[in-house]
Amino acid sequence: MAKVTLCTDWLDVCSGCHMSLLDIDENIVELLKHVQLLSSPITDLKHPPKEGCDVGILTGSISNDHQEAVAREMRERAKVLITVGDCAVFGGICAMRNFFDVEEVLRRGYVETESTEPGSAIPRSPEIAKLYPQVRAVDQVVKVDLHIPGCPPPSQALWFAITELLAGRTPVLTDELLKYD
Ligand code: SF4
Repeated sequence: MAKVTLCTDWLDVCSGCHMSLLDIDENIVELLKHVQLLSSPITDLKHPPKEGCDVGILTGSISNDHQEAVAREMRERAKVLITVGDCAVFGGICAMRNFFDVEEVLRRGYVETESTEPGSAIPRSPEIAKLYPQVRAVDQVVKVDLHIPGCPPPSQALWFAITELLAGRTPVLTDELLKYD
């Protein structure tokens, strides 16, 4: 049987969700028997191929124009799109900045933090991604087929979702799977 092709990328994240995916430990070996990874943020190939893939996984919220382009490309090329983690599903911790004006956020980040060198300025190069006024969850921008919340989701929840999908079932995530002790 042909392997399921998988592409994944991260948007506005701390990367913890992808670390949780790696936390499935030796199940990665089992996973690779069924799944072919075509692109990811930590491999040479970063973009899903034009020919498309079976499953796309996005972590992180959409906070700037670059992240929106990444999400739209993944949506166009993946038959099934899954969001993983509270940032992708709800906006998560990234959306805390939605209470502030973008200029305030940039000034705090680049000029006012306690560790910032005096005299620092907000970078304004047109090559830098443009921060949006509001952080959005992925499904506020593109259609999402499955959400897996959590910050990050426990690796057993991710493994359960993956194995259910591979078995041709829609994963139903219980509270038990999503809780932390
Ligand atoms: S949901 Fe939590 S772990 Fe995942 S990227 Fe956001 S802050 Fe990091």
